[in-house]
This record gives sequence, structure tokens and C-alpha cells, in this order.
Amino acid sequence: MKSGNDKPGIEEIDCMEAINGLYAYLDGEMKDPETLAKFEHHLEHCQSCYSRTQLETALGQLINKSAKDTAPEKLQTRLKKLIQGL
Ligand SMILES: [Zn+2]
Repeated sequence: MKSGNDKPGIEEIDCMEAINGLYAYLDGEMKDPETLAKFEHHLEHCQSCYSRTQLETALGQLINKSAKDTAPEKLQTRLKKLIQGL
């Protein structure tokens, strides 16, 4: 059990649980406020899950855009830049 300055009343989850919940979170399907609080709490503490969430959010936006009007090569270039920027 970790101690210190964690907010009281929020249960710690590990990276596996956070990643399992990531897509539900991104799709807006994480309805349970307690689950949502745990997930966001984990992101505040975990740089790797935070980066991953940022990346998935950006990818989702790029893919939505590309479905409309972006050429695939352009998308790949943007993805490479995005990944290098992490
Ligand atoms: Zn994590």
C-alpha cells in the first residue's frame, strides 16, 4: 500500500487496470464515477499511462480526420512525428 499525499478515498489501480479502462474512457463509456475517479487518479500519478492516454486521444482525432480528408501518407508522417515527440 502506497502512502503519502494520495487523495483519501480513492483506491489505487495498477497500469493493467488503467490500460484496460483506457478505451472505455476514450469512448466516453466509463460511466461509473468511482471507476472514472480511479482512472484519472492513476493518470495523475503515472507518466506512462498519461502519455499513452494522450497518444490514444491524438490518434483517435487523427483517424477521425483522416476518414474525412487526409491522405494516408500524410497521416503516417504525422503519426511518426507524434510518436517521436513523446
Ligand atoms: Zn500506469
